Amino acid sequence: MFSELLFRGLAPRPTSLYDIFMSFTRCDRHLIPQKLLRWYSFHKRDLPWRRTDDPYKIWISEIMLQQTQVATVIPYYQRWTRHFPTLASLARARSSEVLRYWAGLGYYRRARMLHRAAILIQKALKGKIPRTAEALRTLPGIGRYTAGAIASIAFGEKTPVLDGNVIRILTRIFGVKQSVDRPSTLDKLWELAASLLPENAPGDMNQALMELGATLCFPGNPKCPQCPVRTLCVAHKKKKESFFPVRSKKERYEKIKMAALVLQDDKGKVWIEKQREHDRWGGLWMFPFWESKKGMFKEIGKDLRRRTTLLLTLRHAYTRYRITLEVYKAQIPERDGRFRSLKRRHGRWVSVRKTGSLAFPAPHRRIAASLLAENL
Ligand code: SF4
Repeated sequence: MFSELLFRGLAPRPTSLYDIFMSFTRCDRHLIPQKLLRWYSFHKRDLPWRRTDDPYKIWISEIMLQQTQVATVIPYYQRWTRHFPTLASLARARSSEVLRYWAGLGYYRRARMLHRAAILIQKALKGKIPRTAEALRTLPGIGRYTAGAIASIAFGEKTPVLDGNVIRILTRIFGVKQSVDRPSTLDKLWELAASLLPENAPGDMNQALMELGATLCFPGNPKCPQCPVRTLCVAHKKKKESFFPVRSKKERYEKIKMAALVLQDDKGKVWIEKQREHDRWGGLWMFPFWESKKGMFKEIGKDLRRRTTLLLTLRHAYTRYRITLEVYKAQIPERDGRFRSLKRRHGRWVSVRKTGSLAFPAPHRRIAASLLAENL
């Protein structure tokens, strides 16, 4: 087999992704989807969104699964589809209600876009979800990957998906040495993913790749002995699994320290603020927060500063940021006098119990949970 020769260094080294693809015999190229589909039919996990062919529910699952683990998504998906069983019910909902049912899943922009797209489909498309990846991509919050997933799974369109998992699998199987940071490599990987799709059940093939990435082809310590394509996988044959995907630049994280304040009045109520609709956290509730402890102390003034104590420190990752959030607490005997700047802020006093039913982003939800535990 040419791929065997390539391995042992007996064949000329391929120079492009196309060469790499062609270095696999026609038989090998057919075997990859065959083996993956067969493995998927026996080993796929029984997930709630795999028991339906309703495009709306498949769409919900795909949006929830972005940057979120399957185990986390399952209860949210079930709660969501019970409360918003149809696209029309989602389109009718108020944004605060949508955010409440999303609360805790993080990356709230996804929920806002989902809601916006549902309204748009309901009004402009008579409630019919577009059936092609191309048309789906015109909707808010639907990128190339999600469009491919929905169109192939719900409507059987022969269109590929490519995300971090699929990139890892394809670069390993085909031994792609080009950096995946280069747009040209990604373009070729999209082509490679498309070339693997069968005429029938392209959605199953896409899901087989997603499943392989989630259950066997892990970034570290992939379970190659159980993998259906291990005899074809270049990375496995070379014992170089961790070498792929190749990256030209290291991911850089930015560390940030922030401060938040829990203000509690004499009746035990806490001050929370609603974020403006067009902000990153638009529509969600948060405790007052500042970009630094210094900024917080400057705004609240000496008097209140003397009353603050450190309540807890939270660590939180958001995209490329690694955030340390120091949460302070201060008791104020009278509401207005001691913290005049509250008047300029858009918020309200609520009981600690009430915070449990409002939509907060993850770190602020943890603050509320710790206050609830303290109250109990
Ligand atoms: S053999 Fe290993 S590295 Fe290759 S695709 Fe399978 S799990 Fe991934």
